[in-house]
Amino acid sequence: MQADIDRVLIDRQAIGRRLDELAKTIAEDLSAEATGGHGEITLVPILTGSIIFLADLIRRLPIRMQIRVMSVTSYPGTATSSRGASIEAQLTKLPEDLSNNHILVVDDILDSGNTLRLVNETIKQRNPVSLRTCVLLRKTIPSAMSFEVDYVAFDIPDEFVVGYGLDYNDYYRNLPDIVTLKKHVYAGA
Ligand code: 5GP
Ligand code: MG
Repeated sequence: MQADIDRVLIDRQAIGRRLDELAKTIAEDLSAEATGGHGEITLVPILTGSIIFLADLIRRLPIRMQIRVMSVTSYPGTATSSRGASIEAQLTKLPEDLSNNHILVVDDILDSGNTLRLVNETIKQRNPVSLRTCVLLRKTIPSAMSFEVDYVAFDIPDEFVVGYGLDYNDYYRNLPDIVTLKKHVYAGA
């Protein structure tokens, strides 16, 4: 696995430092919502890429919260570009009625915006009290930069990255750093 790594883009220490900052801002914003009126704080992580980010983020958020996962597929198997997004209903645990919930969507990476567009539309139909979105990574390409999100941990160049939850063909999610892979990994895909 280590032999497949081309470059480390963001190492684990840099991720940790940035999450300290980001979590402080998010905790302030969400606490303000919670004290301002009614409603549960509900985090909606998008499976599977956000799991490590989510785990590290929520342990830095000292607030009462629920977690309701959503599953969306956009990169089937060995694809390295988006093929459109669809919700996987069997894995999604989002209540039909969110009128008592402040939602924070947590995703791994903003690329074409198809995933978050679909997720936001689906959530809005369920009438949340508030809706915010948070991504670990955002590619510095027009489709991603023009898409409105509330929190971004890192902006990265338009390269295919893996690690820290992000996969290629469902592998490499357990790499602690965010990296690019050597060309030979994609050969034949
Ligand atoms: P979008 O729908 O914005 O095009 O892409 C979002 C989803 O595509 C992400 O949640 C992620 O699963 C996948 N994706 C986009 N770019 C990358 C990338 O560079 N690496 C990996 N591993 N997945 C990506
Ligand atoms: Mg994803």
